Amino acid sequence: MNFQGQTALITGAGRGIGKIIALSLAASGADIVLVDMNPEMDDVQKEIENLGCKCLAFQADVTDFEAIDSMVKNILEEMGAIHILVNNAGITQDNLFLRMKPEQWSKVIDVNLNGVFNVTKAVVRSMVKQRSGTIINISSVVGFSGNPGQVNYSSTKSALVGFTKSLAREVGARGVTVNAVAPGFIDTAMTQALNESQQQTILQQIPLGRMGDADDIANAVTFLASKEASYITGTILHVNGGMY
Ligand code: NDP
Repeated sequence: MNFQGQTALITGAGRGIGKIIALSLAASGADIVLVDMNPEMDDVQKEIENLGCKCLAFQADVTDFEAIDSMVKNILEEMGAIHILVNNAGITQDNLFLRMKPEQWSKVIDVNLNGVFNVTKAVVRSMVKQRSGTIINISSVVGFSGNPGQVNYSSTKSALVGFTKSLAREVGARGVTVNAVAPGFIDTAMTQALNESQQQTILQQIPLGRMGDADDIANAVTFLASKEASYITGTILHVNGGMY
């Protein structure tokens, strides 16, 4: 796969899955824009520049519509175009529903769903104008299977399915594809927060017998972003070791 001459914007790219997606796209020649809440992106930026790609890094909160809009204007001025958008930033604030506080509900909706609206809204107009582009949203297996303690989180992740499929229908005629990847349990900070017994229970549900790693997700995203996947839109690619 070859992304020479293309620019990819990845949210939540400072660490975890987002960082590995950025490195994977850069390894195939894409110039990269890293967006993250956490300003410490120097190491990722250097790693990408060492691959010979241009790399910009922006500290930004995806929930801030105005800030994201003006950031995207700056990126378009600096890079000329955005060809690939990966909406990866996401959070969990787990609690059983009976104990879930309204703030835990709202915060997760705000980052995982409103954040995708904000960034996509800022980017998609330029893709429609240039008659090309691809958007990849990071959903989750729990958006399909449900998961106790994650009513807030799983609601956002299944909402991204409707978002992906509807937007794909709207912008397909303008040469823009919209897909999602639904990871299973992936070994990152998010899952390292689970205790040993929760991890063992999860492992028993995975036919391939292991948690995924960030590369498993990055490979799927890189494929969907490539021209080899240009006839795929409105699709959810499940990468979960067979657990669902
Ligand atoms: P991490 O928590 O490791 O990384 C998430 C990144 O997103 C962090 O760098 C974080 O910044 C950033 N971020 C959080 N909130 C915002 C915000 N408001 N604006 C901008 N950036 C923000 O998560 P993962 O890498 O594990 O997950 C990445 C995506 O994959 C998420 O959407 C997640 O829901 C999804 N996913 C993960 C699975 C897993 O098993 N790990 C399974 C299924 C889906 P900071 O460092 O400041 O917190």
